Amino acid sequence: MRQNRRKIIIGNWKLNGDTQFVGDLLGELISSWSGVHEAEVVVCPPFVHLHQAYTEYLAQSNIGLGAQDVSQFEGGAYTGDISAEMLQDIGCQYVIIGHSERRTHHKETDGQIARKFEVAHNAQLKPILCVGETLEQRENNQTLQVIKEQLGAVVDFCGVEKLLRGVIAYEPVWAIGTGRTATPEQAQEVHAFIRELFGDKGSLARIAYGGSVKPDNAASLFAQPDIDGMLVGGASLKADSFLDICRAAELG
Ligand code: PEP
Repeated sequence: MRQNRRKIIIGNWKLNGDTQFVGDLLGELISSWSGVHEAEVVVCPPFVHLHQAYTEYLAQSNIGLGAQDVSQFEGGAYTGDISAEMLQDIGCQYVIIGHSERRTHHKETDGQIARKFEVAHNAQLKPILCVGETLEQRENNQTLQVIKEQLGAVVDFCGVEKLLRGVIAYEPVWAIGTGRTATPEQAQEVHAFIRELFGDKGSLARIAYGGSVKPDNAASLFAQPDIDGMLVGGASLKADSFLDICRAAELG
């Protein structure tokens, strides 16, 4: 059963780009991805470019908009934060939550990530929840336990139903920005495990893989039965490579 599991390719632009870059990249993506497509495409520019991206480019297109993070708070005295309602108001449909770069550099905890998931969901955004093990955890055979705990924190706080309305992104930390991709078999093993965690609801989970996805490895990853999408960092910054990954989704 693939209901709720339309293939999805999400471009995470991280801390890159300026207004010129946003216009150039989105212009190319929109002209090449027009028409009807089996796969859903979403881009996640930095906060300051979201409004420009939506109003000038994406509002009339078939490419969705996501943010890279959200405040765990709904509003008030939280200087520098951006709320889920604000993101929804300016045209975002998705938001990345718990990316390993935020877990590492900003010391985000599973508890904060669960609260972010809840506020995003309540504001009608679809959260893209990132989970993944470090190299040390993989070498110590802790991968599946780490994934279970990271997902468990959100399930305990928000419940399974809400979690399954978002996207889960399995992103092994050792594969992000390193050029070292998980093999299709390694990724498939974790995706199948995640599905099993949800028992008879597992077939509803929409699970993307992320970690050095490139045009030359996307097709073999998409060929795995439990891989429903890709979260793409570096290769999403160039129209050609991102579009090649999007097209690979429609071949498999
Ligand atoms: C990411 O930013 O989530 C990511 C997977 O980056 P990269 O594709 O560059 O490894």
